[in-house]
Amino acid sequence: YVAKKQRNTYKLYSPMMNDVPTKELILENSMFEALESNQFMLHYQPKLEIRTGRIYGVEALLRWKHPEFGMVSPLEFIPIAEKTGFIILLGEWVLRSACRQVKQWEQMGLDSVLVSVNMSMLQFQQKDIVSSIKSIIEEAGVRPEQIELELTESIFMENPEHTLRILHELQGLGLKLSLDDFGTGYSSLSYLQNIPIHYLKLDKSFIRGIVTDIRKQMIFRSIIVIAHNLNMKVVTEGVETAEELQIIKEHNCDLLQGYLFSPPVAPERFVELFRSNKCPEE
Ligand code: C2E
Ligand code: MG
Ligand code: MG
Ligand code: MG
Repeated sequence: YVAKKQRNTYKLYSPMMNDVPTKELILENSMFEALESNQFMLHYQPKLEIRTGRIYGVEALLRWKHPEFGMVSPLEFIPIAEKTGFIILLGEWVLRSACRQVKQWEQMGLDSVLVSVNMSMLQFQQKDIVSSIKSIIEEAGVRPEQIELELTESIFMENPEHTLRILHELQGLGLKLSLDDFGTGYSSLSYLQNIPIHYLKLDKSFIRGIVTDIRKQMIFRSIIVIAHNLNMKVVTEGVETAEELQIIKEHNCDLLQGYLFSPPVAPERFVELFRSNKCPEE
């Protein structure tokens, strides 16, 4: 990996350019140092089981507290990390940190929290992806069943056979798999029948406007039926209002994630949420 060598490159060639380095260039060149100096952190957003109202799991979402720009959105820096290849190193860090977090929560008495981690296509193209994931999980001392990987359709764009093999291997290890952002890409229903995934995550764009849009509701309902027939659970992302909750309930959606219950929060706050969520019936 070349980030170390690249570290100060913008300083080297920016004098030759007439303007100041762009934010993108600065971010690109400061990523490695950011990882070393703990500027990256994970926040956690609960997923709720709709039927019971219980916290079912939690999604780890990367945050970067940059000394100059403050909080930088992953929507901004993940594409840069994917472009430079830094995502490989960063992705391993995310998985390792999430695994350690699960272990710590377990030791604090939070029983069987399922943690999901987002994966980029580039990570999937690594030859040793399965053994790399396996060793990170083993080192942290967590059970593979406690970890879920969120993948997007993009992993099928190149070499789908290879991807499918990897998915089967990961499933064989006991990991949970979910297909993220469903409804944003081509979302071909045909490949759903072949892939070994446990959860289908419907993108926020599915739920936006659904309350007043009957056609959207019908598509939503149909996809849930298909997913259930394929033995997948459905997660609706981006649920913000009680009206939206009502609709996804009526349509038999299994899980929800959204600001209505909680935004992504720091780990300490998640512990509070988890404990108060469990308490009422105990
Ligand atoms: P995603 O995996 O689809 O994550 C869900 C995003 O929706 C998160 O944005 C979350 O904060 C946001 N969200 C959740 N509930 C609501 C809601 O009710 N309303 C609205 N408007 N938004 C909601 P975030 O944290 O900014 O992350 C954006 C994307 O960045 C993620 O989308 C994921 O694709 C990527 N990302 C984040 N962390 C990682 C990571 O560790 N690795 C990789 N490869 N990608 C990551
Ligand atoms: Mg995700
Ligand atoms: Mg998503
Ligand atoms: Mg997304």
